[in-house]
Amino acid sequence: MQKKGLAEDELFSFLLSVKQNDRQYRHVLSSMCTLPHPVAVRAMNLFIESNLGDPGLFEGTASLEALLVNRLGSLMHLPDACGYATSGGTESNLQALRMARRGKNVHSPNVVVPESAHFSFEKACEILSLEMRVAPSDDRYRMDADAAAGLIDKNTIALVGVAGTTEYGVVDPIAALSDIASDRNIALHIDAAFGGLVLPFLPKAPLFDFQLEGVTSISVDPHKMGMSTIPVGCLLTRDPSMLCSLNVDTPYLTVKQEFTLAGTRSGGAVAGALAVIEHLGQDGFKAVVAECMANHHYLIEGMTAMGYPVLAEPEVNVAAFDCPVAPKGWQVSWTRNRHMRIVCMPHITTTIINEFLKDFGDMHA
Ligand code: PLP
Repeated sequence: MQKKGLAEDELFSFLLSVKQNDRQYRHVLSSMCTLPHPVAVRAMNLFIESNLGDPGLFEGTASLEALLVNRLGSLMHLPDACGYATSGGTESNLQALRMARRGKNVHSPNVVVPESAHFSFEKACEILSLEMRVAPSDDRYRMDADAAAGLIDKNTIALVGVAGTTEYGVVDPIAALSDIASDRNIALHIDAAFGGLVLPFLPKAPLFDFQLEGVTSISVDPHKMGMSTIPVGCLLTRDPSMLCSLNVDTPYLTVKQEFTLAGTRSGGAVAGALAVIEHLGQDGFKAVVAECMANHHYLIEGMTAMGYPVLAEPEVNVAAFDCPVAPKGWQVSWTRNRHMRIVCMPHITTTIINEFLKDFGDMHA
């Protein structure tokens, strides 16, 4: 730290100059985050000082968190779902496995995850000392449910399915996983960090939520397709006792116990997430998702016309293509199989896709 502080003008000219080094979202085709909706920014600013780590001090914000859980629970067909606002999919997935471990007392616990699982499960398994058993994908990049069933044994505490995979945008066979989890009496966590705010707004989507009896918990991230300010995810559980199993005593706070992972938590981000949900409602979300999906299909048509059909028949707005290079100036990403991956988030317009397709075509001319 410098001995003497900077004047505000000087400080902000420094900050602005550094911000120039950040990418503008415009040419970012790889991110699952997007520009926050203006109401999220406004709401976040309104609650900027609020700390949900001590909810008794911020009862208003805490009621917004309860409403957020209720709104997302209802969307997942369980209005009574329990849950809380996490920092994102990684924390939600980690906490889901923690709950599963508390729920089944075995000596060397393991979890069965799909090959396509987000790398947050690797972190969670390492932190929780769980053996991670990886079930292979079928030829459409979805978890092979039979292979998953074959990996379950008496030490398995949970099965994981993904609704909207990070790399190929597909949904695992969640109904089959639900049957398996119920039969074998283990937890079934659904990672819908991305798909959770896409699938409910599609005219036709596979079942993935609490409508399926075996589903015990779900991750869904407002800071992805919920267009909220970062950081805010949400962990939902069917049964309150699952969350309560994580309680620790919090002697010097306004509450006696907490089940969250983080202590201090941003109330502003929670207000931002709820603001978008309340402002757009189901109709607004349907319109946003319809536009993203229309752009996603437009991209796929353009790429197919140039000889690069989409891989995996995605169900959400993530598309992967078997091509080795992307045009200069565009930020795409690459799957573990070295496929080019593009996410049509709300900041990706038809005009931007036209520019990308033109640059892609020129590159191959
Ligand atoms: N789960 C899925 C399916 C994801 O796509 C991601 C991130 O892209 C995560 C979990 C992790 O979310 P976060 O980066 O918010 O921790």
